[in-house]
Amino acid sequence: MPKPKLTKTGIPYLDFAWNVTSGCSWAGAGCDNCYAKDLHDKRHKALKAGKAMPSCYGEPFSTIQLHEDRLQAVLTRRKPAVIGVCFMSDLFHPGVPSRFIDQVFAIMARCHQHRFVILTKRPKRMKQYIEGLFACARAEHSARAERKVPYDDDCVNVMLSHYSNLDVDRKWPLSNVMFGTTVWDQASADENIPHLLHTPAAARFVSYEPAVGLANLNQIDTEGGVYHALNGRVSVEGRGMAECAGLDWVVMGCEKLAGNNPGRPMEWDWAADVIIQCGKAKVPFYLKQLDVNGRVAENEFQGSGGLDCPDFFNLGGA
Ligand code: SF4
Repeated sequence: MPKPKLTKTGIPYLDFAWNVTSGCSWAGAGCDNCYAKDLHDKRHKALKAGKAMPSCYGEPFSTIQLHEDRLQAVLTRRKPAVIGVCFMSDLFHPGVPSRFIDQVFAIMARCHQHRFVILTKRPKRMKQYIEGLFACARAEHSARAERKVPYDDDCVNVMLSHYSNLDVDRKWPLSNVMFGTTVWDQASADENIPHLLHTPAAARFVSYEPAVGLANLNQIDTEGGVYHALNGRVSVEGRGMAECAGLDWVVMGCEKLAGNNPGRPMEWDWAADVIIQCGKAKVPFYLKQLDVNGRVAENEFQGSGGLDCPDFFNLGGA
């Protein structure tokens, strides 16, 4: 049987994509022109017409598929890499069972050489899952300690063992996993960013793409207060300012459709605001793509022409 392989990706900040699930569904206006759905639909149609295609295209995009056979792909790669997890779907889609996500986390816990990037439009479930992981690790640890049962080789147990060895009260997460959420306007930023900031994480980022409306990342309005996500502060009415987790990176880009055509318009002023705010807060910012005269231009507005990445991507020290 051939070894499972990682997929090459055109996303500039990733070395590979690790597509362990396929299929997804609409989670807001940011999904309106979903690239993954377009591609899947085309390949599904081609397969139905008799063309040779990988078997996952036999199902429509609306079917959530779990690719257990691809789980091992990151374990067999020794050379350090930055790997995007489920960038053509959503690991935290409600159709992905927690037991499968456990396996993904168990494998990431074993791959200290890699950096993993998880991006979701469902950060509420991500937060709940990670919190549950710590609760589960604690319970498993005390049960095993009481019965004097060592951890076995089952990969989920290895992960639980990893978590139980950490200072769970401080909620330290896996040091090689960065969590991100997508926002596309102010309402989605207000909805998604607080969940991200409350997710125990080694590093957090926001992908403001497709930018289809203005989003002020330092003015995230919630019932619980106003989050200044770039500064790592939250102001609660009558209680002043308190510290909260902040963002470690912001990626921004206009909507890109097939053939490098721009989709819904993005205003340059929205990017200018975020650039200024990130500069003040010393948060790395990466402008991924802009609509220039009716064509999408990628990464041409980055002073140095390179990627402004967070320290998390430094593959030197695991
Ligand atoms: S969450 Fe991502 S993969 Fe899923 S429908 Fe939306 S854009 Fe597509």
